Amino acid sequence: MPERLGPPRETPLFRRLALVGLGLIGSSIAHAARRQNLAGTIVAADADADVRERAQVLGLADAVHADAAEAARGADCVVLCVPVGACGVVAAAIAPVLEPGCIVSDVGSVKGAVMAAVAPHLPPGVHFVPAHPVAGTEQSGPEAGFATLFVNRWAILTPAEGTDPEAIARTRAFWEGMGSEVEIMSAPHHDLVLAITSHVPHLIAYNIVGTAADLEQVTRSEVIKFSAGGFRDFTRIAASDPTMWRDVFLNNKEAVLEMLGRFNEDLSALARAIRWDDGETLHALFSRTRTIRRGIVSEGQDAPAPDFGRPRE
Ligand code: NAP
Repeated sequence: MPERLGPPRETPLFRRLALVGLGLIGSSIAHAARRQNLAGTIVAADADADVRERAQVLGLADAVHADAAEAARGADCVVLCVPVGACGVVAAAIAPVLEPGCIVSDVGSVKGAVMAAVAPHLPPGVHFVPAHPVAGTEQSGPEAGFATLFVNRWAILTPAEGTDPEAIARTRAFWEGMGSEVEIMSAPHHDLVLAITSHVPHLIAYNIVGTAADLEQVTRSEVIKFSAGGFRDFTRIAASDPTMWRDVFLNNKEAVLEMLGRFNEDLSALARAIRWDDGETLHALFSRTRTIRRGIVSEGQDAPAPDFGRPRE
């Protein structure tokens, strides 16, 4: 599937878009919103002075502030692009300047905890439409962003019951304008689905890379030298941002622990199959999992190229 953006809008969707946090996701939104004419003005805020300076050099926004409230003042859409654990603090800081009719959204990888942390701060008349773009890379920081990150990727919206339909429609148009497909679901369902499709896989990657690093009989240089045997694909995921992922696990505890319980049971069954030479069980599982991989490729969620499309050295 082509990873290209459609034509830009003739008139901007928002008058003034405020992005709080200019890491991978915030900077990608800045690029895409600019290219697609989704906002007349883009203002941003980041807590990190170095990030603000780099964002200005990159021309990510019309203005970059240290204070999130300064960016949110007068905005008709504010998107929180900070780690999950920081969303509540930012919501409290911007609340006094938010104008009625403004849409507040976020991009957090966990939805229940973010909604519980943000919603109580928002004044009446402000619409909260939480979002999670299921797109990313293992890079972080303002240089990591690019305009096509969200193309052909899902954006999940989890508005609470009773949210203004017009605000939901505009948030949907925002993500569709950046090339995403949009699905709406409840926050608890989102957190359960993402626990198994994203959070537990990251935990497994962090764990296996940690285990390999601690081995005594195999040297670290051997682990790196022979990594093409499968290990290196885990290392890509295990290079993901430590702050972001710490916050994901601490804020989606219940669903992650539930899925980890299931995972551990299934892993024990596999260990038993290996111990008792039960090749049939192993072959049956490996055949089922191959079908899942083929489904992901045929739905355009990954490239079919051999070896994940890596160029041969
Ligand atoms: P990132 O590259 O680490 O950027 C986050 C930025 O926000 C950093 O510059 C950080 O500054 C800044 N920040 C932290 N706390 C702040 C605060 N209180 N006020 C203002 N700025 C603050 O992170 P990211 O990968 O873009 O992730 C941002 C959000 O997107 C997270 O909630 C994550 O769950 C979600 N998400 C990420 C991905 C992914 O693949 N990366 C995919 C989907 C959704 P410091 O440098 O000082 O910390």
